[in-house]
Amino acid sequence: MINEHALREQICEIGRLMHENHYIDATSGNISARLDANRILATPSGLAKGYMSPDQLIIVDMNGNKIGPATSANRDLKPTSELLMHLECYKQRSDVQGVVHAHPPTSVALTVAGIGFDSCVIPEAIVILGVIPTTPYATPASAENRDAIRFLIREHDAIMLAYHGSLTVATSVWDAYMRLESLEHTAKIMFMAHQLGRVTPLPPNQIEKLIAMREKLGYARPGDDERFRKAYGLSHSDEMEDRIRDIVRQTLSEFL
Ligand SMILES: [Zn+2]
Repeated sequence: MINEHALREQICEIGRLMHENHYIDATSGNISARLDANRILATPSGLAKGYMSPDQLIIVDMNGNKIGPATSANRDLKPTSELLMHLECYKQRSDVQGVVHAHPPTSVALTVAGIGFDSCVIPEAIVILGVIPTTPYATPASAENRDAIRFLIREHDAIMLAYHGSLTVATSVWDAYMRLESLEHTAKIMFMAHQLGRVTPLPPNQIEKLIAMREKLGYARPGDDERFRKAYGLSHSDEMEDRIRDIVRQTLSEFL
């Protein structure tokens, strides 16, 4: 398990990468990681996330109150107004150890244009991110925004907040950041394909193979079957489950 000192450095590194990769601007975006059942290490409000120092990060409890020893660097810093959304992720998912919220331009542009991610055609995104839902628009940093992700985060590791940004979670804050990279990379490809004028869907049997791979690699989330069936117009779920089972069995036997 990564210690607090290393976690502080890792969060600063993620902030730097988010800024360098243009996933955030000015003081936007926020990053957090679970220290234990009741304490969350988080980026404070008002800082440019590309230029933070580890001692500027703050510790909050599950109610969002700043706790822990103050340092000269963070004494006057306050929790981010988007902390509600982070806390909701930890409350809904005991497996979540890290949360990353950004404003990746291409991903957000797709939501503004009304193009969803829920039937994307990029194999790696299907395997790693699954079906990516987009919430209805909610005012950033509001309780309404927290409520918009409350149920979705139980079943998804990546969510788009319409007109606003992305939310990615994982069993480590680094992997939550990796999911953000995958999300924006996927959005760029989708954006280009839409510009070229034709998005050709993958055939259902290829989607099923990717779903089986997702399950085998441990990325599957509860309700995946129904969601994929709906998003990709796949055949009856019982049939699909059987086929997935066959593919998993076959793939496993090749490894054993
Ligand atoms: Zn935001």
